[in-house]
Amino acid sequence: MDYQPKARICIGCWQWMKLPIPLRGVAAIPFRLFGIRPSRMNPNTCTICELMFKRIMKKRQLEIDATILFADLRGYTSLTQARPEAVTELLDDFYDECSTAIWSHDGLLNKAMGDSVMAIFNFPIVRADHPRHAVAAARGIQERWQRKRWGSGQSDAGIGIGIACGQLSFGEFGRAGQDWTAIGSVVNTAARAQAVALGGEILLTEAVFERVPEETAGSQSRDYQLKGFETATKLYALPSI
Ligand SMILES: [Zn+2]
Repeated sequence: MDYQPKARICIGCWQWMKLPIPLRGVAAIPFRLFGIRPSRMNPNTCTICELMFKRIMKKRQLEIDATILFADLRGYTSLTQARPEAVTELLDDFYDECSTAIWSHDGLLNKAMGDSVMAIFNFPIVRADHPRHAVAAARGIQERWQRKRWGSGQSDAGIGIGIACGQLSFGEFGRAGQDWTAIGSVVNTAARAQAVALGGEILLTEAVFERVPEETAGSQSRDYQLKGFETATKLYALPSI
């Protein structure tokens, strides 16, 4: 893991409650005794933030404008059969590169399941230009992966990425509802866009494309018949790096 957390106090608690919760250094030691520590979803936020999500979720009225990113490792299944010993290392690298790129752009690594990850931008760390942060994180993931695995010939497994933005709310997942996640059509669309993205490709919805005009210049649009959608969805493929 080469990500170096930058925040000395929790950015989420500061932005939402103006509470300066120390995350690192001597000031953080008494907080650790009470179980307050950097969140595993983003080390610049804290475990109080995670409780905050639960409270917000219970109220059920919170809808926020946010960006969702899904990234998935292609060719993983065939590798599992061909070289099972390489899979653990490959997945570790995948999570490392994804989390580094996502945290560098203030996203939250909300879910990591098997060979895919889901990230939220604009919560709990508020960023008005969250679609731009998500696009930059996606490019970061592809660049890092290219350098680490693809370029070095260590793997022919590429990463497919889908990004969507808009209004969404929160719900629970996991056993006994101990975890929370974003829900709504924005999340579904991002997941489906990821499912049709090729290895090395980044697919955006029209909303993302329109909100980040400079960074997405030169993108090619195409109509896709996404699973579970009645009509075709226009997606934009970022020019490859
Ligand atoms: Zn916090």
